[in-house]
Amino acid sequence: MNKTQTRFDVIVVGGGHAGCEAAAAAARTGAKTALITHHLHTIAAMSCNPAIGGLGKGTLVREIDALDGLMGRVIDETGIQFRMLNQSKGPAVQGPRAQADKERYQACMRHMLENYPNLTLLEGEVTDLFNDGDRVTGVCVGDVCLTAAAVVVTTGTFLNGVMHIGPEQIPGGRYGEEAAVGLTAALRRLGLQVGRLKTGTPARLDKNTINFSVCTRQDGDTPPRPFSFLSDAFAPEQVPCYITHTTPATHKIILDNLSRAPLYSGQIKSIGPRYCPSIEDKLVRFSGRDSHHIFLEPETRAGNSIYPNGISTSLPKDVQDAFLRTIPGLENVRILRYAYAIEYDYVDPRALKPTLETKQVRGLYLAGQINGTTGYEEAAGQGLIAGVNAALNATGQGQELIIDRTEGYLGVMIDDITTLGVDEPYRLFTSRAEYRLSLRADNADMRLTPKGIAVGCVGHKRRAQFLKKQAAFTAAMAQAAALTFTPSELKRRGFKSASDGQKRHVLELLTWPDVTWADVCAVAPFLADLSPDVAEQLEISGRYAGYLARQQADIDAFRKDEGLKLPDTLDFDKIGGLSTEIVCRLKKFKPATIGAMRRLTGVTPAAVTAVIAALKKGK
Ligand code: FAD
Repeated sequence: MNKTQTRFDVIVVGGGHAGCEAAAAAARTGAKTALITHHLHTIAAMSCNPAIGGLGKGTLVREIDALDGLMGRVIDETGIQFRMLNQSKGPAVQGPRAQADKERYQACMRHMLENYPNLTLLEGEVTDLFNDGDRVTGVCVGDVCLTAAAVVVTTGTFLNGVMHIGPEQIPGGRYGEEAAVGLTAALRRLGLQVGRLKTGTPARLDKNTINFSVCTRQDGDTPPRPFSFLSDAFAPEQVPCYITHTTPATHKIILDNLSRAPLYSGQIKSIGPRYCPSIEDKLVRFSGRDSHHIFLEPETRAGNSIYPNGISTSLPKDVQDAFLRTIPGLENVRILRYAYAIEYDYVDPRALKPTLETKQVRGLYLAGQINGTTGYEEAAGQGLIAGVNAALNATGQGQELIIDRTEGYLGVMIDDITTLGVDEPYRLFTSRAEYRLSLRADNADMRLTPKGIAVGCVGHKRRAQFLKKQAAFTAAMAQAAALTFTPSELKRRGFKSASDGQKRHVLELLTWPDVTWADVCAVAPFLADLSPDVAEQLEISGRYAGYLARQQADIDAFRKDEGLKLPDTLDFDKIGGLSTEIVCRLKKFKPATIGAMRRLTGVTPAAVTAVIAALKKGK
């Protein structure tokens, strides 16, 4: 590391999925940025499953892309199988998912970052943070000090990480990598609450020793759809995945050895993700089931490693050897790497503002697994928001990028963790979003790219492409709204006649379930000339118009609450009618708005009314 080059606007600590997006976003937003990570060759490493996206998560990737983040473009470049999940259901619950060639994914991300303007990549471990009063001023890497106006910490599973394989306990942040020690003490010293969480990963298997002929083949979509709004001419060569399952013999071996599982022996004390349980946990919790699916996913296009999705475990190696061979197709399998669980430090995310800046320390931002979340997409999304805000803060631009619950899954996730905290690793689901008909994967750019343009985190290429699409959409909507038909005109053109006597514009015809896009194009030929992405937006706007209008009314009500900001100077002690317990909670978590206050556990409607009354009186 060059000791003379010590001053940056923004320093990002950690080169995982959060760190990559944070560093790129800060640099894109105009900050002179450094990304410091243990090893450059582990940038964007996929610690667990070799896949990006899924339900909710896929929409998150589209949102990252809409704000000009990298994840969508990198997976489009390096994916080996693409599927749109829930294709048979409505657009609100569909999610793009792709298998990645994890080695190419890392190489592609590293290449992009190495060539990113304003960004310097440095190798080393950050062991301490510097502050001047309540403002962060830099980081310490060994005996080198680097100063910055803002620091984004994205240390993932590395803070005091300990891996468990049966009784073996190995200090480390991920298989074969050292843990980060030192930084936790710095975070504590700065007043942040630190806890411990757990996650786990399955064994990796040798493809050449698996009998795929007894498994069910699963192919990608034809044609596949890309993640990025910028990817065109998309025709990747795809590879299949396979599905197998556990058997009663598998279950017997695991249950017979339950006392040797660190999760049940008391060796692992922290909490793991309930919705992504280890196989031993599944057998205990769903004891009535005699089989569980296992998805055999290739980790690269050319290599031998297979990721068996669904059987993460921390059981001892001899038990893993035995139970794996009871699974159809795996009778003669060779294990390339044993499964393990990992425990690591995280920071209570209620210490964060919606910008992901800590409330205690100005200029200090946290993103990713350190905030108690799990998943590459969740980490990347937080990284982007923290990176943009750190850059805006460091360069004194006087703006913030805050996405609220009505605008994106990014907003849902950040609001959930910063308001409610986490009691297990937090993962995004579509069910966490109240307004999911509006928060679709297909319209992420329409929702978020204008916000990105406003704060300067969207590059020229995307900006130009988006403005063109937006203009085409607006013009087509206006043209469609002006094209109306009476019931008799519709009848003459072969549509069912409406008995209400009302005129309808052409997109309203789509609310009738038997009317197709081709039917409306037949009466409005200009629609057939639209590009597919614009046409898709028009079709959804028409088909779900009634539901979308109702959701908009809910969104308006929500915004009213969010518009009522709670100033830092508000003295909760002086507000009559608040219990001591509620005052303590409000002082501790400092909600930014009435909406955030309402969502805090333990806050009553009466308390909300009292605070609103105090705000009005104050005015
Ligand atoms: P990471 O990807 O962990 O990256 C952290 C980066 O920071 C690393 O590059 C590290 O070298 C660097 N770093 C850390 N400390 C320092 C420091 N002090 N100085 C410099 N560099 C530092 N997710 C799921 O969704 N489902 C799962 O089932 C799942 N299982 C997992 C199992 C295991 C064993 C592990 C390790 C992770 C698992 N994950 C799972 C989590 C997933 O890997 C993370 O959510 C995601 O990688 C988090 O991204 P991140 O950027 O926050 O951190």
